[in-house]
Amino acid sequence: MTKITCTCGDVAIALDGPPILTAECHCTSCRDAAGRLAPRPPVQEENGGTRFVMQRKDRVRVLKGADHLASFRLTPKSGTQRIVATCCAAPMWLEFRGGHWLSIYAARWPDGSAPAPALRTMTRDAPPGRR
Ligand SMILES: [Zn+2]
Ligand SMILES: [Zn+2]
Repeated sequence: MTKITCTCGDVAIALDGPPILTAECHCTSCRDAAGRLAPRPPVQEENGGTRFVMQRKDRVRVLKGADHLASFRLTPKSGTQRIVATCCAAPMWLEFRGGHWLSIYAARWPDGSAPAPALRTMTRDAPPGRR
């Protein structure tokens, strides 16, 4: 079991079993979300990518602080929502409508201890010079 928390520690979630994959996403939505949520510490890497650890939904449990979790969508029609811990504005995970997994922000792992990314996705959206 892996336990991760929001920045202040009021929200804790447990991940059971190994992740599906770790990926670094360079899509416009992830960069827009990082800019609008502006979390401290940031969720983006130096290269502008956002790292996610993908975990099956049925292997994620909220241990505490569920009442702090709020949904953030880039537009009202977005099929994708980002779940944010309102206690400290920490992005927790991203959820695609109909997806069987959650993409958990790797920034939630303490001191960069998240599994290393196996691949980079959506690099065609990255700004020139950052691909
Ligand atoms: Zn918090
Ligand atoms: Zn993305």
